[in-house]
Amino acid sequence: MPDVIFSVDQSRSMHDQAVPGHNRWHPDVPVAAMVRPGDEFRVECREWTDAQIGNNDSANDVRDVDLMRCHMLSGPIGVEGAEPGDLLVVDILDLGPVPQQVGNAPGEAWGYTGVFAKANGGGFLTDYFPDAYKAIWDFHGQVATSRHLPGVRFTGITHPGLFGTAPSEELLQRWNRREQALVDTDPDRIPPLGLTPDPDQALVGQATGSDAERIAQEGARTVPARENGGNHDIKNFTRGSRVFYPVYVADAKLSGGDLHFSQGDGEITFCGAIEMGGYIDFHVDLIKGGMEKYGVTTNPIFMPGNVEPRYSEFISFIGISVDHDTDTNYYLDATVAYRRACLNAVEYLKRFGYTGEQAYLLLGAAPIEGRISGIVDIPNACCSLYLPTGIFDFDVHPSAEGPKAADRGQCAVTT
Ligand code: ZN
Repeated sequence: MPDVIFSVDQSRSMHDQAVPGHNRWHPDVPVAAMVRPGDEFRVECREWTDAQIGNNDSANDVRDVDLMRCHMLSGPIGVEGAEPGDLLVVDILDLGPVPQQVGNAPGEAWGYTGVFAKANGGGFLTDYFPDAYKAIWDFHGQVATSRHLPGVRFTGITHPGLFGTAPSEELLQRWNRREQALVDTDPDRIPPLGLTPDPDQALVGQATGSDAERIAQEGARTVPARENGGNHDIKNFTRGSRVFYPVYVADAKLSGGDLHFSQGDGEITFCGAIEMGGYIDFHVDLIKGGMEKYGVTTNPIFMPGNVEPRYSEFISFIGISVDHDTDTNYYLDATVAYRRACLNAVEYLKRFGYTGEQAYLLLGAAPIEGRISGIVDIPNACCSLYLPTGIFDFDVHPSAEGPKAADRGQCAVTT
């Protein structure tokens, strides 16, 4: 096992760790540990909400989750010799839940998938599912099962939802400017169009005094993916992956967390992965001047690892850019089309006895594939959602006999 260079006591909040992490992006969050190109090391992570969610049968904690505290990031890890313009090469050697530990924090032998309430962040289908819901998952080696989703059992593709390098001062200002401009187009929207800087609940690593205040005031929120990487939520960014992050500040300052036991493409419920704390092992290196050499300036690139479950049969649900409720046509809108594909899958699964909420949670968490299938055939974009049939312990195929509905209980709901 490589040396742990950022450690987490899972019985404490990230605020109370010997070396606390941070929950805002800012160039001046002090480095928590230094490594060299060529080093291998382990980073321990809190679950992204700092364990606000419990292993129980009520979704009240998901309804009431304080997004100001998110995401809890481990780091920053400084890489000696990294300078703006370089590419930071990061290999994911291994990752998983908290090893050999059963407890109350997500990642200690269990994880969860949440549907956020419309009033608190929402999700991809929030107009159809405006309330909060939750499914608890138990880990059996690589396999996940849920008392809230009987009849389902699948192999997780573990991956970090979020890692990235620190932005430069100039890049941070651009983020804040453009996101504020978007929010200003409809400032009262629910859910909001974006989350702009807010010092409430900001955690700024080991910064103190006026530095801490400034970072809390200016620091970018962690929800979206941006030029530095960030909250990509790419399910195939798993063990064996190699990512090339743009470097914007001296030492690169790599931070992240939000580990997932599994996730469907799109992470459609917002908190749609199987969320957990745990560990991640890295190897790092540098390509000097790599940003210009490869034209990688506004985004990371990555090579997926070879580890993923081999599901070979799928039912594919197609969606087009038409709102069937109002019979409105949208022009090549892949978001509308993928939403229809998701709703079509939910409707199908309801015929087998799941509630809509259970189906929605399942599509967020299970290893489903989401694809843009056609994006030029005016006026309809065509997206498809590939549901692996092998995750069900009953026959989910369409046939002349019709679907066999069973009592499949319900997920955790609010009271
Ligand atoms: Zn997550």
